[in-house]
Amino acid sequence: MTIRLAILPLLLALNFSMCKRNPSPTASSEPATSSPTPAEATAGGSPGPGVAGAASAPKITKPVVDQTAQTLIFCYHRLVDKIRYPGTEITPAAFEAEMKQLKDAGITVISLQDLLAWKRGEKNIPPRCAVITFDDGWKSQYEVAWPIMKKFGYPFTMFIYTEGVRGGSLGGGEAITWEQLADMRDNGVDIQAHTATHQDLREGHNIMLAAPGGKRTKTKLTGPQYEEWLQKEVVGCKQLLEQRLGIKVNCFAVPFGSYNEHVKEIARNAGYEAMFTVYGQPITFTSPNDSLGRYAIEANKPKVFVDAVKMIGTSSAGATAVAEVGATNLSTQPADGDTVRTALPLIKANLSGVGAIEPGSVQMRVSGLGVVPVSYDPKTGTVSYQVTQKLRENSCTVIVSAKSEGKKVEAHWTFGIDATAAGAPVAAPAKPAPTPKK
Ligand SMILES: [Zn+2]
Repeated sequence: MTIRLAILPLLLALNFSMCKRNPSPTASSEPATSSPTPAEATAGGSPGPGVAGAASAPKITKPVVDQTAQTLIFCYHRLVDKIRYPGTEITPAAFEAEMKQLKDAGITVISLQDLLAWKRGEKNIPPRCAVITFDDGWKSQYEVAWPIMKKFGYPFTMFIYTEGVRGGSLGGGEAITWEQLADMRDNGVDIQAHTATHQDLREGHNIMLAAPGGKRTKTKLTGPQYEEWLQKEVVGCKQLLEQRLGIKVNCFAVPFGSYNEHVKEIARNAGYEAMFTVYGQPITFTSPNDSLGRYAIEANKPKVFVDAVKMIGTSSAGATAVAEVGATNLSTQPADGDTVRTALPLIKANLSGVGAIEPGSVQMRVSGLGVVPVSYDPKTGTVSYQVTQKLRENSCTVIVSAKSEGKKVEAHWTFGIDATAAGAPVAAPAKPAPTPKK
């Protein structure tokens, strides 16, 4: 049984956007790089410095992670001076202006891998973050976007569909080359999968198949033929990227965001940790990893970017980082995982190991009751509450929070209630919740 001690900082929001691309030829290149730049270092770092320090005494067995952080994920395609396809293009000037806006808004650009590490509880991120991704593999991502990203020191991810790389059946003159991808890889750019041929992955949808002679024919696949094709798109793409570049691929951007449960299952089985769509939304700690929405930024919809930034710009900042602390550090009663024989237990926790607590800041929440009036003894560091209304469920979760040295600290634990004995108030109201201390 462990109790989670959380230190709460602030949060951010991240959004993901989507990318789209025509199954057409060419991908061009020019990515930007992400990589461990200063920004990233700050952002993603492990148990944030602040955090670790804040937690003073208790032994933290897991990094403290701010669960209220939010991230916006953006998706870009081609960068061109003269927009011809406003649905997938943006001018370099507009792109650079947006990168600057993130900085000006105090939004930290972090790497996609740091976002995932945060969601695994392994690494903290600043309260308000953004992840930048480029789809399809266009030459302009290498030649135009990458230098801009370097200028800002921003990390980024490239989502590549393998047949769209130069030399592939869909890779024309505007496509990025394997050599350019290798250069980006060597400089810390994250390279991830976006299928083999960039098509709707759902069974029974129209797709184009390259016939032996190079001709392309429109068809619909079902049954075993579909499954075989799907494997190539989802699994084959990952294998090819990993083999050509000697990298680990754990992210999958779904073309057009068109997938379903079966496709997800195939992707999960292939070892993808996260899947991305183009339905932009701030990414939170609990956003499901198999449908992380990205904001696709296009020349004809500048408002998408502005609105996305507003989404996390206005979100509340109080956050909650959570660290696992050995249960003994709080010596709770009932203990985490224990079962009590009364529906009216006395609930206690000792916060003395947490550091200097601001007395008025101590709060207790009890599942089924909400915030309860606790009593807190600063001398012993003990916070307690005598339940006065029967707890109705057979388990009860308690969340105790307090401020310590300006940071919010939080502990959760759960105990069971034996319903058969729950009728009588066995537990003497040892301490009828006296003063509501907040
Ligand atoms: Zn795409």
